[in-house]
This record gives sequence, C-alpha cells and structure tokens, in this order.
Amino acid sequence: MTSSLGNLRDLYQQVILEHYKKPRHKGQTDPVHRRQRGHNPSCGDTIELTVQLAEAGDRIESVKFEGEGCAIAMASADLMAEALRGKTLAEAAEMVQRFQDMMKGEAEFPRELRKLNVMQGVSQFPVRIKCATLTWHTLKAALEQPSGEVAEGFVSNENE
Ligand code: ZN
Repeated sequence: MTSSLGNLRDLYQQVILEHYKKPRHKGQTDPVHRRQRGHNPSCGDTIELTVQLAEAGDRIESVKFEGEGCAIAMASADLMAEALRGKTLAEAAEMVQRFQDMMKGEAEFPRELRKLNVMQGVSQFPVRIKCATLTWHTLKAALEQPSGEVAEGFVSNENE
C-alpha cells in the first residue's frame, strides 16, 4: 500500500539523490570573496563554501561548494547554492534562520524558494538534521566574516 505521504517521501529522496549525484554548484567561485570550511563531526561531513559577492558587496552573485559527506549534506549544499543566487546578505541570513526553523518543524519556505522544502523530510530523522544544516551553518559563518578576510579552520556544528 502506498500512501500519499509515502509518495511524498519518495519524491524528497529522489530530489536529494539527484542533487547528490549531479550537483550543479560544485567547485569554487571566481573570484572568491568569502571562503569557509565546515565540519559535522556526528556524521563526518566536511564542506568548503566559496562565495562571490556582487560589486556593491551586499548581494550574493554565486555560491559554490566542495566537500565530502553523505547525500543529505551534499544535496543540501547544492540546493542552498541554487537558492542563494541574487539574494541580499540580509535575505540570506533570514534563509539560514528559516532553514533551522524548518528542521524543527516550525517553518517552511515560500513558493519562490519551495525547492528547499524537500529537505523538510529530514526533520523526521534527528540524527540527520546536522547533515542538512551544515551548509547553512557554514554559510552563516562565511557571511559574518569581515570583508576581505578569508577564514582559516573549520566551523563545527557539534554544539548546535
Ligand atoms: Zn551527513
């Protein structure tokens, strides 16, 4: 018997696997305006984000990622990179918060960003939540860096 919820879950898994196998935003931006590495010790996921800002410095031109990890961590990074194109830094900060709220089952993204809602399914698996939030956690650290500074070392989401 397949319920509609079961089908929905299959759809989530399909989208996640598709982004894992064929990421569209893997690599490094050119030029690199922000660089930040992140680590999720509970699963072993590591990620390095690079960010290219628009000339005025208040808008994201492009985000790319490199890393090693599970399908959820890598798919989440690819989906995030896609959703961030053209967003202001304030909008990006709001999206970080909304994603964290979504993992608690307290929010979802509006229509124009609805693709991010595929990660909602992960909120049912508490041990995987940190896999999904790693990229957002790393982005937050990247955007909070003073302009022109490139961070060394990893941010860890162990204590989140
Ligand atoms: Zn993981």
